[in-house]
Amino acid sequence: MSIKANNPSLKSWVEVPAGSDFPIQNIPFAVITTEGDTPRVATRIGDTVIDLKVLFDFGYFEGLQFALEDFDTDKLNNMMRSGKEGTRALRNRISDLFVDSNNELRKNDNHIHQALLDIDDVQPLMPIEIGDYTDFYSSEQHAYNVGCLFRDPDNALMPNWKHIPVGYHGRASSILESGVDFHRPKGQKKPPSEEVPVFGQCNLLDFELETAFFTYEGKPLGDNITTEEADDYIFGMALLNDWSARDIQGWEYVPLGPFLGKNFASHISCWIVTLDALEPFRVSGPVQDPKVLPYLEYEGDKHVDINLEVIIQPENGEENVVAKSNYRHMYWNMNQQLAHHTINGCNMRLGDCYGSGTISGPEEGEFGSMLEISWKGTKPFKMSDGSERKFINDNDTVIMRGFSEKNGIRIGFGEVKAKVLPTK
Ligand code: CA
Repeated sequence: MSIKANNPSLKSWVEVPAGSDFPIQNIPFAVITTEGDTPRVATRIGDTVIDLKVLFDFGYFEGLQFALEDFDTDKLNNMMRSGKEGTRALRNRISDLFVDSNNELRKNDNHIHQALLDIDDVQPLMPIEIGDYTDFYSSEQHAYNVGCLFRDPDNALMPNWKHIPVGYHGRASSILESGVDFHRPKGQKKPPSEEVPVFGQCNLLDFELETAFFTYEGKPLGDNITTEEADDYIFGMALLNDWSARDIQGWEYVPLGPFLGKNFASHISCWIVTLDALEPFRVSGPVQDPKVLPYLEYEGDKHVDINLEVIIQPENGEENVVAKSNYRHMYWNMNQQLAHHTINGCNMRLGDCYGSGTISGPEEGEFGSMLEISWKGTKPFKMSDGSERKFINDNDTVIMRGFSEKNGIRIGFGEVKAKVLPTK
């Protein structure tokens, strides 16, 4: 089935403000609520939110394989059971309804009045019931920077790094949606000045600029997903801020890796952009040298050009852009990550979440964490109000934004945003 909804010549009868992340070619999915009403599945065009439960009720999705419980629900998981073909058909149908040459819905004031909402009247909720969360470590620049900072610039990358997409199993319970503030974590750490470990609040709180992808139902335990099949198992993507407590992490990570320094909060953006909508923005990846094992080889352009930025906004202060990067800088792509994750027979489930790993570009100004931006605190970032940041202060809000753009079409994610409250 072709992805008709991606046609760049389409225009909608719904107004799209200049520079919007959400033209008719995007059609992302979210779960929303409005005052006094139950959660339901929605999409958006510009700043207009479209209630898909209402459209289903009025029969606009007749002929598609969906039921009321796919839209009258507080998570996207039911709808995602329809798989790639199902969500592709749904996006195509929504696109049809809102294209300026189609009067089917446009002429029905009563239906429009019930189905269309202003973004300001809507609260987006956690979009997906996430079963398992895996975080990769797939940006070469980030792995190199961290290797320089903690080990040896001459041997910054571990010997395995260019042979396997390194990752670890994270924790899904503390993944939050954009807009949910959280408290600075506390824990055990061992500052260089101390002989023995101490307990206290995290003083080196950091963000990690990442993207996440979410899977449809995978294959049974024991089977694997190839790089060629991977696209059919990926529903869509979001922005991910994978918060990290560097002082807790630095003491605890040996020998089993990340634990309490990483699992206290991670935030995702609320509008899930489908992999289908991102197809026009595919680009080639880096030459992988040394050559990867056959199960990690892939064909075609499997990286994605997504402009990313990170902002720190102090309480009542201005936005400060502290990093600009791009998802195309990844060494390992999603197809390779999924192929590697399943090559041992590990089963992926519907709604599982996979973090890219911190996305650092090759230049200064493109680093995706404060650890790298401040080079472990030795190069503080100068804020517009005259203050400095080595890491994140209490009451700072960290915002990440991202979009792809080509031939005048901009497909964006909106933002993921959260404020750091003082330790509880
Ligand atoms: Ca991470």
